[in-house]
Formats: sequence, structure tokens, C-alpha cells
Amino acid sequence: MSGSRSKTIREVGQLGELMPVPEAQRAALGQVLGRFEVRVTRHLEPLIAQSEAVARQFLPDVREVEGLGEARCFSGLLATGVPGVERMYLDRCIVMPHPVCPAYCRYCFRKFYQHGAGSAMSEEQLDQALAFIAGDPRLREVLITGGEPVMDKRRLSHLLSGLRRIPQIGPIRVACRSLVLAPELIDDQLIALLSAHQDLRAGKPLEIACHINHPDEISAPTVERIVALRHAGLSLYNQTVLLRGINCDASILLALFRRLRSYGVESYYLFFAGPVAGMDHQRPRIDEALAIKAELRRQATGRLNPRFIVTTRIGKVELGVDGRIVEREADGRHLWIKTPYALAELQAVDPAFRLPDDCYLADDGAIVVRYLDGPLPAAKP
Ligand code: SF4
Repeated sequence: MSGSRSKTIREVGQLGELMPVPEAQRAALGQVLGRFEVRVTRHLEPLIAQSEAVARQFLPDVREVEGLGEARCFSGLLATGVPGVERMYLDRCIVMPHPVCPAYCRYCFRKFYQHGAGSAMSEEQLDQALAFIAGDPRLREVLITGGEPVMDKRRLSHLLSGLRRIPQIGPIRVACRSLVLAPELIDDQLIALLSAHQDLRAGKPLEIACHINHPDEISAPTVERIVALRHAGLSLYNQTVLLRGINCDASILLALFRRLRSYGVESYYLFFAGPVAGMDHQRPRIDEALAIKAELRRQATGRLNPRFIVTTRIGKVELGVDGRIVEREADGRHLWIKTPYALAELQAVDPAFRLPDDCYLADDGAIVVRYLDGPLPAAKP
């Protein structure tokens, strides 16, 4: 990695630089790398060496060739006709200018169809995206994500300037896992670029959407950059993915959320890990997640209690708030979740939208979707 920020590993022979590779696992790990490469950063390497919770997020596991799950977890996207723009909801969309990240999280739901395969949006595509957003007055806010948008200041600047010229667009959110992957990317130039595109008097805030899963990810440089962003007047919120073997424990999450709160970072979402192919071993069960969520609620103020979200193939559902489990199948893995989404509303945005497989309409018109829960506990011998 001399001189470069990231180390990418596609051959099992190189893996020994990061982790022990038992002879009996070489073939399976080779298969895993063939499906999805390993990428870590210079910043992450010492954290990986010190913390299992960090290592498991980035290093491969032989179990990645097993289990259920899907290569593409969202089949219910609304058509936008613009490369790099995705939409699932009426009032917001996402733009993905830069598909690559400084490091790759093993549980990422975009891992099989974006990283390594997608290309950065061209200037023409960025302008198409801006024209698409400007042309739909129902769109009120935009999330710039990826990949890591902060890796490409030129494209980010092009998008931010264009979005700020669209009258109906208020808040802009910029996804940023680099605070923990490569904090040096959040340099003063980037912070100046971001704050220059915030205009609170005009109702146009700019928010940083962080993604931090465990207190061990928060190093001194990460804290320093969070504080620099806050001092520049930007608000930060965090999204955590609940992952077995990493943070599936109320005390770990409480430590994380308290730490984030101490820097003025809101804990916004606690995501249930999606049914990504090969990642069964990091997925809890929904009932376990709900028990952890209840424990968090018992122990801490609502100000550090994130909303618990299951992301189905047609959109996010907050169980017990805007959706619920209506049926569990006998296999113990699949359940049916009633969502807050109505087919007619989605078709008002995209007339060609059809119910994806494994969905039906409830009597009140809400979409009910089949969902793969985490694996059943192993039977005791
Ligand atoms: S930083 Fe985000 S987009 Fe990139 S690999 Fe991790 S989860 Fe996926």
C-alpha cells in the first residue's frame, strides 16, 4: 500500500498481509475473494489488528460462500431513466456520483453490482441527474451517496452547485463512511466545499450522513474530523447496521451512541442487516434486534435511541411504527412485513412500476412484502 490510501486484495496469496490464512481455508477464501474483493485503508489496518469488531467488517470469511440471500436486495426501485440516480420514495432520491469506497464493508448491499462494476458518473450524467431532479417538484431533498462521494470533490462540487440552484430542493445529505475508513479525506478543503453549500436562511441545510457501527471505529483522527465538521456548522447524523459478532449487544450500541452524542452526532437509524448473499453469518434475527432495541429504550434517553429500520425490497419499514410482521412461514426464515407503501402512490411516481415478486396488497392497499430473516440458531447437538 506504499503511497496509496487503499489496499485491494483479490488473491488469497496476499491475504496473509491482513489475517492468518489457515491452509484448510485457502480454497474457500480464494472463492470468497473471487466473488468480492477485500479493500482496506492505511487508516483501518491498525484498527483491524486491534479489534475483532472492526476486522469482521472488512476481512473475508469462508462462510461467505454459504447461506441464503440475494445479490441485489432492492427490486422495488422506481424508474428514473438516469444512470446513477435511484428513487424509492416520493419526496427524495439518491445520486451516486462515485461508485468506489476507500474500503469495502463485507455486508454492503451494493457489493455485487456496484463496487468494481459501476463507473463514476460523467459530467453529462451529472447534468442529466440535475435536470431529472429539477423536473419533478415532488422531490424536496437529495442524498448524495455511492460509493463514497467525498472521494471525488470535483463531481461532488458539480452536484452540490447544481442542486443548490434547484428552488424546491431544501436539505442535501452527503453520505460519509470515510470518517472511519479514511478520515484524512475529510480535509479542510472538503469541509469548506460542504459548508459553502449550506444556506440555512434559505432553508437549505447540508447534513452529513455518517455510518459508524462500533466504538472501536472511532479513532482520534475520526473525532478530530467530526469536530471540524461540527465547528463548520454542519449537522451530522449516524446510521448503524446491526451485525452479529460485531455490535449485536445493547451495551456496545449504548457506548457507541453515547460517544456519538458527546460529539453532537445524532443516532438516527439502526438498520437490520439486509439479506445480502453470503452474509447470513453476520445477520441477527429480527426478534433479537427488537429485544436489543427495547433494551436501549429502557436504558437511555430518546435523544440517543435511533429508529430501528428493516429495509425491504420496496423501502424502509419501522416495525411497530409504520409497519408490522403479519405472518411467519414455517421454514423459520421467511416472514411477511406490512409496509406503509401503497401501490397507487408508487405508480403515481412511476406509472410502469409493478409489484415485485414476493409482494401482495393488503385489504387497505398497503404493500406486504416477503422478507428473509436472519438464520435460525444452530441446533444443539
Ligand atoms: S462504505 Fe458504504 S457503500 Fe462503501 S462498502 Fe461500506 S457500506 Fe458499502
